[in-house]
Amino acid sequence: MSALPSHLELVQGVVLPKPVGADPVLDFVNTRSDWTTRGPARTEWLTSYEAFLIWNSYVGLVPPATVFRLIEQAGGKPTEATRRLHTTLEFRTELYDVLTGQATAESFEAVALVIERASGRRQLVLSDDGPVWELPEDLALPLDNLALLAGELLTGPSRAHVRMCPGESCGWLFLDPRGRRRWCSMATCGNRAKVRAHAARAR
Ligand SMILES: [Zn+2]
Repeated sequence: MSALPSHLELVQGVVLPKPVGADPVLDFVNTRSDWTTRGPARTEWLTSYEAFLIWNSYVGLVPPATVFRLIEQAGGKPTEATRRLHTTLEFRTELYDVLTGQATAESFEAVALVIERASGRRQLVLSDDGPVWELPEDLALPLDNLALLAGELLTGPSRAHVRMCPGESCGWLFLDPRGRRRWCSMATCGNRAKVRAHAARAR
């Protein structure tokens, strides 16, 4: 087997991009390449509902034990799992447009609706550390959990620090609170730009 590029990682049989967004919501929108188009990506990492679950575990959003049980649930409800993945990818596109200030009124409404629904599904339960918000453990959990975090990002102070990578065919998002970062990753876009600049000097 050939080695994976350094910005990718093989996780439980699924190839996933390493997180570079400094925020899980931004890493979620970075699960496809090529945000210069809204059509199908050249590389899509969320290729199945199971891959989406494994990504959630990889970035620490959903505990591995929960992911394990949800993979079992999804196995028994393949049609629902496929529908959930579809909804997730739609939300990702609309959220990208909201985060980058390109959203139409319709996309914004669609994003708001997903976040509001997720908010309404929360249950206040008593844990060992006191009352906490929890989502029911069903196939809607991973998207609802992301939607709640997206709601916090959109209404919180971090939103002002969201930057878009200017790399060719990239458009990935990351947080840049100190205003020092240009590329999503030096290993990919930063390096490509360096190579191009070098080639231009050599001509
Ligand atoms: Zn980039």
